[in-house]
Amino acid sequence: MNHVSEAGWIAYLADEMPDNLKIEYENHLYSCDECLTVYMEAMERAESSLLVEELDIADSVMSSITQLSEVSFEEVKQIKKEKSLRMITRHYLIAAGFTILLMAAGVFQSLTEYVDSVESSTVKETQTLTDGLIDKTFNWMDSIEKKNKEGFRNE
Ligand SMILES: [Zn+2]
Repeated sequence: MNHVSEAGWIAYLADEMPDNLKIEYENHLYSCDECLTVYMEAMERAESSLLVEELDIADSVMSSITQLSEVSFEEVKQIKKEKSLRMITRHYLIAAGFTILLMAAGVFQSLTEYVDSVESSTVKETQTLTDGLIDKTFNWMDSIEKKNKEGFRNE
C-alpha cells in the first residue's frame, strides 16, 4: 500500500471512509513510521481544531447566557421597582381610605347620635348613606389603583 496523505488521515480521523479502507490504513500505520508521524500530526491538528470549535461554542454560549442574565436582571429590577411602587401606592391608598372611612364614620356617628335622639327611623337612612359612602370610597380607591396600574404599563 502507498503512503497515506495527511488528507487521507484527516478523512480517517473524521470517520469519512469505508471500514475496509480504515483497516488498510491502520495496518499500514503499524508498519510505517513515516505515516505514523503524518497521522500524529493530523490527529493533533484535528484535536486543536475541535478544541477551537468547542471554545467558540463555549464563548457564544457564555455570551448568550450573559446577555440573557443581563436582560433578566434588568427585568427583575424593573419588576421589583414596579412591585415596590405598587406596594407603596397601595399602602398610601389604604391609609387614605382608612382616614376617609374613619372621618366619615366619625361624622356619621355624631350625626346618627343626634338623629337617634330625635327620630329612630332616620337611623336606617343614615346607615344606608354610610354604606353608600363606604362603597363610593372603595370604588374611588379601585379607580385610582387601576389608573396607577395603567400608568405602570405605559412606563
Ligand atoms: Zn506510509
